Amino acid sequence: ASIQSMPTDVPASNRTQDRTAAQPAAARDSFTNTPDTDPSLAANRDWGDAIRSRMQSSTLGDETARANTLSDAAALEKVIATAASAGASWRALGAAGRAEILHRAGDILQARRAELLEVMGSECGKVLEQGDPEVSEAIDFAHYYAESAKRIENIDGATHKPVGLTVVTPPWNFPVAIPAGSTLSALAAGSPVIIKPARQARRSGAVMIEALWEAGVPRDVLQYVQFDRSLSPSKGLGAQLVSSPAVERVILTGGYETAELFRSFRPDLPLLAETSGKNAIIVTPSADLDLAAKDVAYSAFGHAGQKCSAASLVILVGSVAQSERFRRQLVDAVGSYRVGRPWEESTRIGPLIGPAEGKLLHVLTTLEPGESWVVEPERLDDDGALWRPGIREGVAAGSPFHLTEYFGPVLGVMTADSLEEATAMVNAIDYGLTSGLHSLDDDEIAQWLASVRAGNLYVNRGTTGAIVQRQPFGGWKKAAVGAGTKAGGPSYLIGLSDWEDAPVTA
Ligand code: GLU
Repeated sequence: ASIQSMPTDVPASNRTQDRTAAQPAAARDSFTNTPDTDPSLAANRDWGDAIRSRMQSSTLGDETARANTLSDAAALEKVIATAASAGASWRALGAAGRAEILHRAGDILQARRAELLEVMGSECGKVLEQGDPEVSEAIDFAHYYAESAKRIENIDGATHKPVGLTVVTPPWNFPVAIPAGSTLSALAAGSPVIIKPARQARRSGAVMIEALWEAGVPRDVLQYVQFDRSLSPSKGLGAQLVSSPAVERVILTGGYETAELFRSFRPDLPLLAETSGKNAIIVTPSADLDLAAKDVAYSAFGHAGQKCSAASLVILVGSVAQSERFRRQLVDAVGSYRVGRPWEESTRIGPLIGPAEGKLLHVLTTLEPGESWVVEPERLDDDGALWRPGIREGVAAGSPFHLTEYFGPVLGVMTADSLEEATAMVNAIDYGLTSGLHSLDDDEIAQWLASVRAGNLYVNRGTTGAIVQRQPFGGWKKAAVGAGTKAGGPSYLIGLSDWEDAPVTA
């Protein structure tokens, strides 16, 4: 696990001041994180208003998604064959040649930030506050992997060799950053890519891919596909894609069940998967309770809780369970979030990707014995996608809420007598993606770091919003399937490479 504390500030000299002005190109030989949009500038607020005014009727990405929708096995076979044979010329560019194109892609994503925000809001309900750092992350992936590819081209006397045709199947919850990160990593390593964005995020994925094509990634090397849902079985095309012997790696971000489904199509599938999460933040009596309440609320309810990294549980240790102040701060923070459509300026929490159903609907409307609502979730629209978030307390160790991933706007409160007991509650969960601790006591922090089992550990910070290079992102246990290296970190491209040893001469 990597250990993360408070995020460091972006140096002032690197802060983009005005989005309406031309955006500076990133350096070509080093990496710095791209700053998010600063809403304290009037020009940026006007820029944001203009994006929101276009959101509702946006059709960005539609044409690409439609044009690349496949409806039969023969068409898909042709895509696979074309991409596989395009690999040689892409590899021949060398790391430096590919890096130049990837850096350009980062600059184009920056220039198209407004379009990306427009399409994510329109298609996936992302509010600007959530979408903006996501675009920064996509840009960071481009520049970071470009530099990584150069760094790893020759190490330890071995020559880097890309694994070959890579299939990318990203989720809808980060409709730009995750498809971008997965695609750019494989491209940087020298592999051709077929990407099949989630159906709910096909237009957002298309706008991101258009930026990469514009930067000079050949269309044969980077193929965008969707499957026609009206023709059955569309699942047959998915199975055909991941089962193809020409496919040498599949990068999946999605539910654990999807990884299992892919494995049922092809047992020896070379999978690199970031899967489900069920994450907790522990708050001890030594914590800054005001900060903890704010971080818990944001980690639980940002993007309506639809993040693998979201905090779904808060575990209150000892006297924090009786703290009226903490409780009031948490309830106030949640009450201050306006729920609405992403094109409405004051919206902090947008709609769910679809109506709440199944286990999520159940948990938004039903309590287990011993549980009660601190804040009862409230459905705000007819189709069931807009929900005022809920907080339930009395969640028992071993209960369904303790152990199940719901992926929505509901937080559970648990209590523990000691930090040790709280950490054991975290470790009892099958998934180990992110984990948080709010404590100002160095001994407690050290104790927790030594015993908690999760990929990304955050101290006195929320559990969402990992930052490329500073906080490489990836899980343990059922949160990762396959090689399990961390996105946005120094070893990720190594997981996408084979190595040819230099010939040994006597
Ligand atoms: N990388 C994202 C974060 O740190 C989460 C990605 C996901 O939900 O899969 O919040």
